[in-house]
Amino acid sequence: MNILVTGGAGYIGSHTCVALLEAGHSVIVLDNLSNSNYEVINKIQHLSGKEITFYEMDVTDPLAVSRVFQRHELDGVIHFAGLKAVGESVENPLIYYKNNLVGTLVLAEACLKYHVGRFVFSSSATVYGDNQVPFVESMELLPTTNPYGETKAMSERMLLDISKANSDFAVTLLRYFNPVGAHESGIIGEAPDGMPNNLMPYITKVAKGKLKLLRIFGKDYPTVDGTGVRDYIHVLDLADGHVAAIEGLFKGVNIYNLGTGKGTSVLELLKAFEQANNHVIPYEIVERRPGDIALCYANASKAEQELGWKAKRDLISMCRDAWRFEKNLKD
Ligand code: NAD
Ligand code: UDP
Repeated sequence: MNILVTGGAGYIGSHTCVALLEAGHSVIVLDNLSNSNYEVINKIQHLSGKEITFYEMDVTDPLAVSRVFQRHELDGVIHFAGLKAVGESVENPLIYYKNNLVGTLVLAEACLKYHVGRFVFSSSATVYGDNQVPFVESMELLPTTNPYGETKAMSERMLLDISKANSDFAVTLLRYFNPVGAHESGIIGEAPDGMPNNLMPYITKVAKGKLKLLRIFGKDYPTVDGTGVRDYIHVLDLADGHVAAIEGLFKGVNIYNLGTGKGTSVLELLKAFEQANNHVIPYEIVERRPGDIALCYANASKAEQELGWKAKRDLISMCRDAWRFEKNLKD
């Protein structure tokens, strides 16, 4: 298939491009490089041994997007392009709503106009809000605590309505849990600019000596050891989930959790990191982070039953691969 990957130079997108190319698909990447760089495109080509077509453009620009749809006979779109920093979205909601909602609308419109019937969207477990774990796709969604989360919930609703009204436009909503890790080569991975917001990149920066110690946000949650519990999933498993999704049966709207189904606390993740990499990570316990929930993990059985996809990699590989990538990073 010819697949347009928006945000393909980013963390999850780049791993998915490699997986798509390895599965025999052709890939066209559209990215404005606002949170990535062109070097990643070369790395995708190097890892897969295949060429991709790259457009440096903004997904919110309807004319530019239209040109790409005209130039390529597309079979499907995987839409990763978006802004994702929760704190930043609270400070600057306008940019988040504009970038994330307009981008989704522009692409959906182009799909209808050029008859592209497969659309895979990067959603997030955040749309479940503080529901009872494990989160199941059929649950009623609860309000999220920030504009970023709202852009995901709203994009889901928009795509649902558009698909309902256009039987040839089928949509798969993928709700990711917590993607971590990197390609086993150590060549591509997650390289946040400045101070990392997420736990794993923070831990690897401490391991590298770039940051002094990890601050654990709260030890008084109703969890196994009082620290927050999340469902960490290897980015390579997540990438395979996208290949399964785009190749899957497309009709109407399908929603899948992409998680492992296993909850891990902050302290458990730290222990796994220390075990995998022989590195002790100093930490201190601080106040809870506003907006955080205690428990977040998936019921991952629907994706397994319907897409034949299941996460395979364990916590040790996630920690080992994340650290290998960080060690290779030039600072
Ligand atoms: P990322 O920032 O590494 O990748 C996003 C890519 O999109 C970047 O390369 C960026 O340059 C590009 N981009 C952003 N706005 C754009 C625009 N207007 N036009 C063109 N390109 C644009 O993020 P990621 O971690 O790979 O996340 C990919 C998607 O998955 C995002 O939609 C994110 O919200 C979603 N998601 C991520 C996580 C996570 O923890 N990483 C969890 C759930 C959902
Ligand atoms: N966390 C932490 N210190 C950090 C970053 C995160 O203790 O520097 C905790 C956070 O409170 C949550 C878990 O680690 O319980 C995962 O946080 P992350 O930001 O990676 O993912 P999200 O909260 O978006 O699921």
